[in-house]
Amino acid sequence: MYSDIIEIAKRRGFFWPSFSIYGGFSGFYDYGPLGTLLKDNIIKIWKESYLNDDTIFIDTPNLTPEPVFKASGHIARFADIAAECKKCNNKFKFETVLSYNNISKIPKNIDEAVELKNEFKLKCPVCNSIIDNVYNFNLMFKAENNNLYLRPETAQGIFVNFKLIYNYNRGKLPLIIGQAGKGFRNEIAPRQSLIRLKEFNQCEIEAFFDPDNLYFKELYDYKKIKLRPNTGEEYNITVKDAMEKGIIGSNAFAYFVLKTQYILEYMGMDNEKLRFRQHEPDERAHYAADSWDAEALIDNDWFEIVGIANRTDFDLKNHDENSNEPMKIKINDNEIIPYVIEPSYGIDRIILALLVQSYYERDNKFKVLKLNYNIAPYHIAVFPLMRKGELKEKALQLYNEIKKIDRYIYYDESGSIGKRYARQDEIGTPYCITVDYQTIEDNTVTVRYRDTMKQKRVKMDDILLKNNFENL
Ligand code: AMP
Repeated sequence: MYSDIIEIAKRRGFFWPSFSIYGGFSGFYDYGPLGTLLKDNIIKIWKESYLNDDTIFIDTPNLTPEPVFKASGHIARFADIAAECKKCNNKFKFETVLSYNNISKIPKNIDEAVELKNEFKLKCPVCNSIIDNVYNFNLMFKAENNNLYLRPETAQGIFVNFKLIYNYNRGKLPLIIGQAGKGFRNEIAPRQSLIRLKEFNQCEIEAFFDPDNLYFKELYDYKKIKLRPNTGEEYNITVKDAMEKGIIGSNAFAYFVLKTQYILEYMGMDNEKLRFRQHEPDERAHYAADSWDAEALIDNDWFEIVGIANRTDFDLKNHDENSNEPMKIKINDNEIIPYVIEPSYGIDRIILALLVQSYYERDNKFKVLKLNYNIAPYHIAVFPLMRKGELKEKALQLYNEIKKIDRYIYYDESGSIGKRYARQDEIGTPYCITVDYQTIEDNTVTVRYRDTMKQKRVKMDDILLKNNFENL
């Protein structure tokens, strides 16, 4: 559960609120030793998976000059509607105030929001006084005096480089470009630890296509998944079938939905706790013509973890019109501006969802993280039965030998073996290996499995032969 994860995360070193020695500042979280390993594993899976599609990766600055965001529409339109209560001095996202007041209507713009505020005399979710002020709040952080903004998405760094990379790629479409980095948003109400941060980790892909040919690759068959188009139905269907039935618009878009499902499940996301929901037309970002969110169930609520958007030629067209670089390219003698499909992965929310979904309590007592092997901070822990003499020597020797083939390994000699197993269960280590007296006689060790708690005698040499411990 969420609250258990927050407790484990801090105590065991996954993540915690930043700057807490100065009282804490909402919207900022640090990753600790285990969280950093977990995060790196997740980003690595994302990256390697997209390398399979011949993605080109780049790395561009966090600070971005104003003309870029003027052209991209972020200065004018990357805003949330905020509501302020002057009595208790709290600020809210307007939608939070609406849901507190049981109003389901979503305003299309600030004028409609002001009308709703006046018509219903909306109350403050904290102190119940009448809300005083409703206004547009731009979510970008501005570095005063020098016209720089912290980027709210990594995507613009890709768009401004499109032409250069297109040429680097010898003028071929489709062209897939990726970037992992930080995004910054001055969120009105940061909340729920990693869910809404002011500084967060994004892994974004911008896939460029000829608008007349939104085809990427043949879709493969994969598990059924919950799909909720904005027409009101809910399907449990494969993405391939959804494409064939016209629920998802194009092969290219469907490919990235399918790939996102595959990547998330490969990381350990529960198929039952994952769904794709299409945005309502008035819910989309200013740049999108169609959007589907991958949503994960965290406790009892669904949260967006990946946004997949059809950004059309919106961004390139704007940079074409406003920069010194023409973004048009020639395809079969026609000048076109490519269309973009963007799967944007929010790594922090993915981490939280994977941690919460993997948590359970064994015998109402022991906390276990059933983390997938692919993302677990450590794959193996090695223990000597006794912390001295030959057993310790042998355990350290085994630890050092395994380390040569897998560095995600932990050595622990303190406390009873039961306690050591419990410690590893709590941080999601799939295998523990104990060196005991029998090891000295026949060079076998006990392998203990986190999920079944079963134990098996295995020859030390067999362990060292394998460089994939998944099949131990
Ligand atoms: P968006 O560009 O809003 O679709 O965001 C892409 C992804 O980034 C989302 O699916 C989230 O997982 C993540 N994200 C967006 N805003 C935040 C935030 N304030 N804190 C943490 N993650 C975020």
